[in-house]
Amino acid sequence: MSFDADEFKQQFPLFAQAENRQLVYLDNAATTQKPQAVIDAICDFYRHSNANTHRSSHRLARRATEMVERVRGRAAGFLHAASAREIVFCRGATEALNLLAYSLCSEMQPGDEIVISTAEHHANIVPWQMMAQRHRLILRYVPHTAGIPQFDRLGEVLSERTRVVSLTGGSNALGLRPDLAGIARQLRDWRTPGRALRWIVDAAQLAAHEVVDVQKIGCDFLVCSAHKFYGPTGIGLLYGRESLLRAMPPWQGGGEMIAEVDLYSSHYADLPHKFEAGTSPLAAIAGLGAALEFLANSDRDAMAAHEQRLMLWLHRELATLPGLRVISQPQHNLGIVAFTPGNGSAADLMHWLDGRDIAVRVGHHCAQPLIRAAGETATVRASVAAYNTQRDVEVFVQALRDYLQLAESPQSAPPQPGADWGLDDLSVLQVEQLASQRDWQDRYRELMRWGKSIRAKPEIRRPENLVRGCESEAWLVHREQGGRHYFALDSDSRVVKGLGALLLSQIDGRSAEEIRALDLSQMFADLGLEKHLSRSRSNGFYALLRQALAQAS
Ligand code: PLP
Repeated sequence: MSFDADEFKQQFPLFAQAENRQLVYLDNAATTQKPQAVIDAICDFYRHSNANTHRSSHRLARRATEMVERVRGRAAGFLHAASAREIVFCRGATEALNLLAYSLCSEMQPGDEIVISTAEHHANIVPWQMMAQRHRLILRYVPHTAGIPQFDRLGEVLSERTRVVSLTGGSNALGLRPDLAGIARQLRDWRTPGRALRWIVDAAQLAAHEVVDVQKIGCDFLVCSAHKFYGPTGIGLLYGRESLLRAMPPWQGGGEMIAEVDLYSSHYADLPHKFEAGTSPLAAIAGLGAALEFLANSDRDAMAAHEQRLMLWLHRELATLPGLRVISQPQHNLGIVAFTPGNGSAADLMHWLDGRDIAVRVGHHCAQPLIRAAGETATVRASVAAYNTQRDVEVFVQALRDYLQLAESPQSAPPQPGADWGLDDLSVLQVEQLASQRDWQDRYRELMRWGKSIRAKPEIRRPENLVRGCESEAWLVHREQGGRHYFALDSDSRVVKGLGALLLSQIDGRSAEEIRALDLSQMFADLGLEKHLSRSRSNGFYALLRQALAQAS
């Protein structure tokens, strides 16, 4: 089936804004852009229907209530739930998982077990850790190899005491999509009438890329967030089998979730309201309704096939770039390529890409156990959605090629063993040379080259030398000799080193009065750095400057 990504993209007004015409948005695993229909639904709610739901029976309240329950019905259809009573509105996947952890664990006995995996988002780790501590439960992990869960070996960690198996339907860090049918088979083999074992699927990523059918999956609970599938932030879905939800205690108390309140006890409302304390995010629910309708009217198979084509193309291209370590696998992948640059820091690369208006994410992606097991602290993650085009991924790969060419020359000489910190030779660095570069890309390249004049200094990497306010770690030391001030700097980031080299080239070897007389902020602005560098990078420069000034005085 053919899919026209350009045509699909036209439904998303953000991309039509003049400032976003060249934007390559590859941060979809964090959140997707919103189609016009979703934006309109949110505005229309406030324009025409704004009233609180359920508690009041005037015309507007009735209209708002009908809207909420209509969207609930649509959500039941979206997940193939048996009825709307099985759909609880939550703030998102995180809140839904917290609800499940709180409610299910409160009925467990000390020593009962919960099984999760190393590929989980923190939202599917931390709530279980908290409840395990509170109720003296045991947390077990699916067997893994270098952090990658071997879901086909789930049976090895199931025991008589396993009460909950809560697993990802797709990893947000690597895109890894487990074989849910295989997991269902293992759980089916394990379950007997006497064993109360609940299976939760974290479908925060999965629901954005595939049609989710809870009947086919066979899970007991499933959670997702609307903002990952073109809906608004602040609203998500918890699906639960009706009989199970009915038996579970509510997790938050307040208005809306009660049938009757006495002085010392209350009777709770029927499903699903028992789990929806307080005023719901009504406009977000209206937006969710529009997102569900938008998806129902889209060819989801064609969207998924298009995303898969882009993801496979990216993996193939990145495999040809020798300066990268690609961590994700193209097989069973929801649409993510994750990698690190072999030379330099992931944050430098992200800022370089940002300079070309390419949005990717750098960090641990709320999946620290997985990223750590891969031997990294941060990766670059590019994640696709159906509105991404072939041009998007080509521009991205070309930008990576340019960056790698820039970064491939070796870093500065290694430090002399045992030596106390020495000065870097910055005498060749001329601001005029930096200023004379034709355009911003050349100036940035020059700045990166300056970074190479700062050699590695493990001897100064101590907490007391850490520069506060710098996004990438940086260390600055100072000494005074004959009324003159000398500095030494180190950082993993080539850009921070470049900015540091620029700063030190101006202040090193000068007296405090001379340093104070310099207008370094003006120089920074004149070089166009403030305009072109991200705010966090500019803040990094000013943090270095502040620390140097404090040291010199
Ligand atoms: N689970 C997964 C796999 C995710 O990717 C995310 C968000 O990135 C979450 C849970 C938490 O979702 P939210 O932040 O929308 O609550």
